[in-house]
Amino acid sequence: MSNVIDFSKAKDYLKTYGNRDGLSVEALLDEQLSGGLTYNDFLILPGFIDFAAEKASLESKITRNITLKTPFLSSPMDTVTETDMAISMALLGGIGIIHHNCSPEEQADMVRKVKKFENGFIIDPVVLSPTNTVADVKAIKEKSGFCGIPITETGKMHGKLVGIVTARDIQFHQDDSSSLKDIMTKDLVVAKEGVTLTEANNILASSKKGKLPIVDSQGNLVSLLARSDLLKNQNYPLASKAPDSKQLLCGAAIGTRPDDRDRLELLVNAGLDVVVLDSSQGNSVYQIEMIQWIKKTFPKLEVIAGNVVTREQAASLIAAGADGLRIGMGSGSICITQEVMACGRPQATAVYRVSEFAAKFGVPTIADGGIGNVGHIVKATALGASAVMMGGLLAGTTESPGEYFYREGQRLKRYRGMGSIDAMNNKSGKDGNAATKRYFSEGDAVKVAQGVVGNVVDKGSVRKFLGYLHTGVQHSLQDIGCRSLAEFHESVANGTVRFEKRTAAAQMEGGVHGLHSFEKKLFS
Ligand code: IMP
Repeated sequence: MSNVIDFSKAKDYLKTYGNRDGLSVEALLDEQLSGGLTYNDFLILPGFIDFAAEKASLESKITRNITLKTPFLSSPMDTVTETDMAISMALLGGIGIIHHNCSPEEQADMVRKVKKFENGFIIDPVVLSPTNTVADVKAIKEKSGFCGIPITETGKMHGKLVGIVTARDIQFHQDDSSSLKDIMTKDLVVAKEGVTLTEANNILASSKKGKLPIVDSQGNLVSLLARSDLLKNQNYPLASKAPDSKQLLCGAAIGTRPDDRDRLELLVNAGLDVVVLDSSQGNSVYQIEMIQWIKKTFPKLEVIAGNVVTREQAASLIAAGADGLRIGMGSGSICITQEVMACGRPQATAVYRVSEFAAKFGVPTIADGGIGNVGHIVKATALGASAVMMGGLLAGTTESPGEYFYREGQRLKRYRGMGSIDAMNNKSGKDGNAATKRYFSEGDAVKVAQGVVGNVVDKGSVRKFLGYLHTGVQHSLQDIGCRSLAEFHESVANGTVRFEKRTAAAQMEGGVHGLHSFEKKLFS
């Protein structure tokens, strides 16, 4: 009789163990016991599922004042982030940080293109005059791909609107020298200045036209609304946008030399939302002075400082006024910093130490380098990072700079470290070279490499790939039993989420093993 087991008491019985199964985050990262850890050194124990994965929110801050729906940033590297990558990152809820291994004008131009990409109202569209020719329209179409050009008397914005030239107007027009006044559409649907975005969108939708010019009370052109933007708006519900202008958010990197101040001015004029101070070792007098100057000169601009891997480095930059911190030294996939400089820190330990410290001041952190899969993103956020920055994982996508080529039957793109000799030798006009600045080696007679040049396989479009990362993280949060990244951070801090260290054998077990051969397809 007394041997009957009361199964309903199973949960109560758990209490007799005192501690919960697994390790708390503090115990996991106890350096006295286990030294510095990397993402592969541990796992997160599963929790309780009572919600659908798609309901998990990945909303997170990247700086004190910028919250994104997706905690993903693309690295400021010349084989990762230019205009196309930055546009796609922002459309999918993250943000692209445009590299600075180019002239200040080229970088500002890239920022401007991102900012203009999906405007609610396009405030400086291409405009022509009635005396321009069909050839001019064809040239613009060839270069920029768009058509539907407003025609004003002056050929400029704020001139009197007299017509619009669309693709249909020029499609079958053989004579390229014809003046636009003879072929433009004069029967126009317009909206008056002051119209709200929703009202203008409705007019555009019911007019079935491609473009809606907005005019002032005198009939002068003040802005333009595009149907293609309307469609894009509908397709990207997570898009990172400025609340007032509806423009996509854009970041850019700069160095900490005096001429970087002029560069930053150009970037701010182009509409920059957040600047990343790009240094492999951010705890320097140059960076501290730069942060203080930026905060005084552009008080509204958010500043991500770094890179840091210790609390002491973080404290300097937080004290100087950093709005966010970038964590990582030597963990990047193309990086040889730890090997050459003997400086750095295993990334999981670095992320935990810095994030735990920065959280006390409300400064979000970004885990930068070494993100090789969805699991690494989850682990970085488990350790307190608000977001992750990715280089290698996004290189090789359609939107990354560079051409594809074939080698041994595989479609590849080049991916190089900004501290590689290759990148450091890429002079970019009077402003020198961003790569040498990142590693403080402008004046050196011998350049010491901190990165390599490599190739990565074609990953298809980042628009699909980021969707995979997003959904993957949601599923992981579901397994762990947290409905949002905010809840995840809280549950790790209060000891509800538990961890386990992995031995070398455990890591082998956790990977594919024992097969003759296999194909690894990550998503469809
Ligand atoms: P990944 O995502 O592991 O490929 O690492 C990308 C990160 O590596 C970047 O965001 C930079 O912080 C860092 N990085 C870029 N170039 C170099 C380099 O040449 N040496 C060391 N680190 C680099």
